[in-house]
This record gives sequence, structure tokens and C-alpha cells, in this order.
Amino acid sequence: MHNDRDTVSEPRREFLGYLVASAALITHTAVTWARESSTGEAAKTTHSLTTLNDSLEGDLLLPENDRYESMRGISWNRLIPERRPDVIVMAKSQGDVVATLKFARQHQRRVAVRGGGHSWCASALRHGGVLLDLSQMRSLTIDSATGTATIEPAVRGVELIAAAAEHSLMFPVAHCPTVPLSGFLLNGGNGLNYNRLGNAASNVISIDLVLADGRQLTVSSESHPDLFWAARGAGPGFFAVATRYRLKLHRLPSSVTMSNYVFPGAATEVATELVESLSTSMSPDVCLFLTIGAPPPELATSSDTVAVVSAIAYADSVADAEAALKPLNTDPRVGSAVSALVNQPTDLTSFLGALGSTLPGGHRALIDNIWSNAPLGTMLAKSPKHYASAPSRKSHLLVICLHLPSNSNTTSYSWLGRYLVYNNTVWADAAEDESNRSWHAAATSLLDTHKIGRYVGETDLTKEADVAQQCYTPETWTRLRALRASYDPECLFHDYLQST
Ligand SMILES: Cc1cc2nc3c(=O)[nH]c(=O)nc-3n(C[C@H](O)[C@H](O)[C@H](O)COP(=O)(O)OP(=O)(O)OC[C@H]3O[C@@H](n4cnc5c(N)ncnc54)[C@H](O)[C@@H]3O)c2cc1C
Repeated sequence: MHNDRDTVSEPRREFLGYLVASAALITHTAVTWARESSTGEAAKTTHSLTTLNDSLEGDLLLPENDRYESMRGISWNRLIPERRPDVIVMAKSQGDVVATLKFARQHQRRVAVRGGGHSWCASALRHGGVLLDLSQMRSLTIDSATGTATIEPAVRGVELIAAAAEHSLMFPVAHCPTVPLSGFLLNGGNGLNYNRLGNAASNVISIDLVLADGRQLTVSSESHPDLFWAARGAGPGFFAVATRYRLKLHRLPSSVTMSNYVFPGAATEVATELVESLSTSMSPDVCLFLTIGAPPPELATSSDTVAVVSAIAYADSVADAEAALKPLNTDPRVGSAVSALVNQPTDLTSFLGALGSTLPGGHRALIDNIWSNAPLGTMLAKSPKHYASAPSRKSHLLVICLHLPSNSNTTSYSWLGRYLVYNNTVWADAAEDESNRSWHAAATSLLDTHKIGRYVGETDLTKEADVAQQCYTPETWTRLRALRASYDPECLFHDYLQST
């Protein structure tokens, strides 16, 4: 005689075991939440969690689940904060997003949204509430007839570049291949060829949103322009869930050409003068960068630090690219460089890979930035000495030079200065956390005296109480606050991360 157990196959038995375990975890969580609430509604919460779990295409994870810890820790940065949500929903569709927000509203749980998990300070990881993770939403379609792309949030820059290149098109993705489009576009996005193409968010045509009250909208400059404006710059303080973006693509440049000059630490002043004099006079097809840090191992120099001046030209022909780079290549100051790469042809994917290697994944990192109009020589006077004492050779200072576009107010992104300056502190070993933390604090305070603002996408949001506000013009900040109060009056979504 067979009993029921004998007739159940092994995978089915595992699945039934999973269901029983899930039910037990859900009941446990419901009882814990009910203990917290005055009404003691454990049965109702169990029912809602079960309903949510059953309705999802993706998974619902509670702290007791095996996968909870690894999914909590989806992060570019290995310095993972100890903030723990009550529930993680690994959404697979807009329907999952709608169901999760409904559940959170019913149980008065705050929601934090995670796109691809690249925010270095893990701003989506919060104490308690629901973490709505979109990292499995990665569909990508190119329409070459209209020159547009439609993407789900977690598509990465390098994936969009590769797909668009098949149609001789491109998009101004972030300067690191693995950065997901989701948070990058909401931040405003400083991407490839920024002087010519503007910030990445100004190349967004429309966005599908789910609002706090559950409404599903497609916003654009014609439809709900106030939400469309806010979604393109509010970054980690945005008050809705973006589930799909439609993007305007651009013609792929026929020539992507780079020149690179490495100056010894003693000649940093020459490098800063060179960058200062060229930063606004070069063609808008050129992006100019200055990096200060340890010399690359392959470079034979006794210098403790080097200053690297890099220029990349996006052009329609090699001749045009070389003409655009000529003011740098023919400047007599490049004679002080110990190593030079002149008019080197590259392509977008290789260029992204090279930049990505300066901020490698799988490391521990502290990052901060300032917008500044201060003369570079004054701003960076103490940097070579400070970087020579960095505990990690991977840490570096990066200056991005912008042809300052006017704040046209078409997006909520604030271009606040001529230079965007980063202090990137990167190390591998947890045993070196303390030395790197204190070195990073000293490096950022050297920069902060020259600050006129910050870029919200890469700021240490836990630094000061008003740090998010420092990322916007007063008008933009006031408007963002008013829209937040109007579209999320019950504060369903977490506000900007602050010191916790
Ligand atoms: C190595 C490195 C290189 C970078 N390079 C650049 C660069 O060149 N230019 C640049 O501008 N930035 C750059 N960034 C910053 C980048 O823009 C942010 O890290 C951005 O948040 C990444 O997007 P994400 O979806 O992974 O964000 P996540 O970490 O997933 O989320 C961060 C926050 O964004 C919000 N959010 C994300 N997705 C959604 C959504 N779909 N709906 C609602 N809210 C959402 C949430 O509030 C969340 O807390 C870089 C970062 C790193 C670590």
C-alpha cells in the first residue's frame, strides 16, 4: 500500500516543503508585526502577506529566508550597512510593484526602491519596511526606426551601449559599464559625451511610474510634466516607482579618440593649469578629466602620485576627432608629462571598461563629490601630498570638467558648477576600514571648503542633515519638496537617506 508521501516526487516534495516553510515564516512575521501594532492584527497580516506572496511573479523574502541575506546585500559596494528591511520583494513586473505598494499601504510600511543596487551608500537599504527590488527587471528593446530604446530599470549601461551599437546608435550612459540606468537616470545622470548631449535625463522621452496611491502613469513633457520633471533629478529622494523608461538614442560617433598625459606628482600644478585653461575652450565634442592618485604599476616613475589629464573626443571622423583634441596635444605643457598616449582610437565599450577598472566592483568604497568653480590650482593644492599618504593605492581624486549648461529647468537635475570633483576611496580588505575611513574624511574636508553644491547621485547622504538639499538650487529643492508632499502625502516612500 502506498501512502501519500510515497507518491510525491522529490522536486514536488521540496516545493511543498518550501510552501510549508514560507507559511511558517509569514505567520512568524505577522505575529511580530502585530506585537508592534496596537490593534494586534496578526491573522490579517498573515492573510495579506500570503496574498501578496501568491500574487507575485517574483519572490517575497523574509529575514528568516535563506536568500534574504544575499538579496539584502545586492550592492556594488562591499561595505554593506547593517540596515535590515522587514520584507524584500524581488519584483519581476509592474504588477508586482502595484501589489507590493498596495500591501505596504495597507500595513503602513515604508517602501524603499532598489533599481540595480549601484548606489555606493546603498540608499535603498533601510531599517524596517519593504525593500522593493527591481534588479530582475531587465528587458531592453531598440526601435531603430524611431531611434529610441525602451528599457526596464535594471538594464546596465554597457548592455544598452552594445544593443544600440547594432543599429549605429548610442545613449549617454554612465562612465562605468555596470551602472544600471534606473537610479542613474533618476539622478539626472552625467554620461558619455555630456558636453554635447547634456545630462542623461534630458534624453528621456517618457517614464512609466507607479505612484504611492497605486496609480499607473506614463509621464512625459506633455503628460504630467511636473512628475516628469521631478523624476529626472530627484534621485534617491524620488517619490514613485519607475518601471520603464523610453530613451532618445543618438547617432554612434564614427570616431571615439582619446589622448592621455601622465604628469609626475611634482608637476601637478602644470597639469591643473593645463586643465583649467582648456576646460571650457575645447570643442563640446570633447570631455576632459583630471585624475590624481598613485602611479599605475606599469609606469616607471619614482613619484608618489601622478596627475593624469585625459580627453576623449566623440566625432564623425578621425580627422574631426584629432582636430578637436589638437588644443591639448599641441599645448607646450604636455612636455612635462612622463607618459603620453596621443590620439588613441577606442570604442565606447572599451572606454567604459577602462573607466570601470578605476572603480572596481567587489571592493569597499567611500565616495563623495563637490561642484566647484574654484580655480583648480587652489582647490587641489594639497591633494598630491594627501593622496601620497592614502592607505590604498586604488583611491583617487577625479575632476570632470563641464561646459556649464544653463539650468534650463527642464529637468530637476542641478548643474551647479564648472567642475564636478570626486574623492573616491577604494580598498579591498575589511581590516583596513578604519584607516581608510579616517583618510577619506580628511580628503573630503579638504575639498568641502571649495564646495558650492553636490551631485545627488554620488554623494554621501549620511554626511550632514541637509546634504540632499545641497545638491539642488533653492528653487529646485522647494519645488521637489512640494511635489513630494502632494504625490506622497502619507510618506509611503522613504525620503533621502540620512545618518542612521
Ligand atoms: C562605480 C560607479 C560609477 C558611477 N558612475 C556614474 C556616472 O558616470 N555618472 C553618474 O551620473 N552617476 C554615476 N554613478 C552613480 C549612479 O548614478 C548611482 O549609483 C545610481 O543610483 C545607480 O543606479 P541604481 O539603479 O543601481 O541605484 P540603486 O542603488 O538601485 O538605488 C539608489 C536609489 O535610487 C532610487 N531608485 C533607483 N531605482 C528606482 C526606481 N526604478 N524607481 C524609484 N526609485 C528608484 C531609490 O531611491 C534608491 O534608494 C556611479 C556609481 C558607481 C558606484
